[in-house]
Amino acid sequence: MPDTRSYEQIRDLDETPEPSGGDADFDWADGRPIFVIQKHDASNLHYDVRLEAAGVLKSWVVPKGPSTDPSDQRFARATEDHPLAYAEFEGVIPEGEYGAGTVLIWDRGAYRNAKGDGDDPPPVTDQIRDGHVSVWLEGQKVSGGYALIRTQEDDDDRDERWLLVKMDDDEADARRKPTSTEPKSVATGHTLDEIRDEEGSDG
Ligand code: MN
Repeated sequence: MPDTRSYEQIRDLDETPEPSGGDADFDWADGRPIFVIQKHDASNLHYDVRLEAAGVLKSWVVPKGPSTDPSDQRFARATEDHPLAYAEFEGVIPEGEYGAGTVLIWDRGAYRNAKGDGDDPPPVTDQIRDGHVSVWLEGQKVSGGYALIRTQEDDDDRDERWLLVKMDDDEADARRKPTSTEPKSVATGHTLDEIRDEEGSDG
């Protein structure tokens, strides 16, 4: 059963336009498991990397976002599971609410399990539990193999720490800097400023 109780507990879903849960059907993914990377201009600008697994979006906060350079190790912090429908969320979380700020769908696509060479790789949920995830992303801005590696377990006052690393494959490119050169939403083509302005004019 998908469990997004933490997600629901830390938000006032009457006050934020974020989805309250439920299923979602992504015509851009052909029924395959999805990933989404949302750029979130909150108190600290960051990227939220989310992978569909076990009926939810497993989520990491990645301050600098993904790199296409295998020599970059991008710090990531595990955060609460989000409902699948969150993959379609782009908009403004109001002042005073959890995560207040603007959310832009920076990249998305289908992904596949890329662990090992065999036909029967361990499920991504097991890989997350074990702290070493291997996936092949098919996004518009980032693609190819990515690893998520846990470097510190959860304890009472700190979230799990992970690293997000591009694998050295044909999709690796040390010169591309997509977080700098490709800032717009892949869903709407809008910039963070445009998303903010639109919400303002909606009243
Ligand atoms: Mn966020």
